[in-house]
Amino acid sequence: MITITTIAELDSAINETKKNNKSIGLVPTMGALHEGHLSLVNRARKENDVVVVSVFVNPIQFNNKEDLEKYPRTLEKDLAMLEAAGTDIAFTPSVEEMYPEPVTTVYHFGAIEQVMEGPRRPGHFSGVAVVVRRLFELTKPDRSYFGEKDFQQIAVIRELLRQMNSNIEMVPCPIVRANDGLALSSRNMRLSPEARNIAPAIYATLMQAVEMSQYEDVDDLKLWVLDTLASFHEVNSLPEGLRFEPEYFEIVDDTTLQPIDNWDEASGSVGCIAVWLDGVRLIDMVRFRG
Ligand code: AMP
Repeated sequence: MITITTIAELDSAINETKKNNKSIGLVPTMGALHEGHLSLVNRARKENDVVVVSVFVNPIQFNNKEDLEKYPRTLEKDLAMLEAAGTDIAFTPSVEEMYPEPVTTVYHFGAIEQVMEGPRRPGHFSGVAVVVRRLFELTKPDRSYFGEKDFQQIAVIRELLRQMNSNIEMVPCPIVRANDGLALSSRNMRLSPEARNIAPAIYATLMQAVEMSQYEDVDDLKLWVLDTLASFHEVNSLPEGLRFEPEYFEIVDDTTLQPIDNWDEASGSVGCIAVWLDGVRLIDMVRFRG
């Protein structure tokens, strides 16, 4: 594995790869890597000659300064994990290298960004699009790998590729979970042991909702999920500090991302949730239909 920090070095490595007609798989990450990220790297390893993984905490996609400051950074460990997973190129640029000038580009994605994460994290998807587009242009991948944990992000990148007229193949990958069901996330590191203990209730509630979707209305089910999590600490006599504060739970069409009112409205539907616990914002999703 080679570790590259500058665009000039990356350019020459990519040119060399292209000259030899080798296919490239790109996995964009923000580091603090875990098995979820590695599942993307493993998939890229199987499907491409050369695997490029970027590790870059992208400041312009954070709408919350504290979240950016507290974002875990574990570069040395990340590089060891990437090497063990068979990565060819780790690209770890500085902010100055990626953005030598202030970013003024703003992307719009229409209805798919007007729900869920979009209104709650103003500028987030535009910031994601700027960095992902830059990474696409720099690494010229044949395929790029994204996790379904960030379900709305996948729809946004798909739309970005359409706007770019690009034929980069976007490969969505399933969520990797801890044994107790909690979706792996770099932010899980910030949970206290007590909060980490109860965090699996998020996925457990979503799984129960999938069962209930056989006989429950969409709207009633949405309320049930929000209420179950919001009252979890009370029902279980836990301290106020261990309160789940759900930000949203939406049941949406899996392609348009628009909320549905009844199950027959979409051939595929998923439930996406954002919850605060112990000062940490956690997201998760499950599939209902399709
Ligand atoms: P991040 O470093 O959080 O920006 O994530 C980089 C990529 O890894 C994104 O495409 C995420 O969706 C994906 N990812 C993060 N967590 C998981 C997980 N638990 N399972 C699968 N993919 C994940």
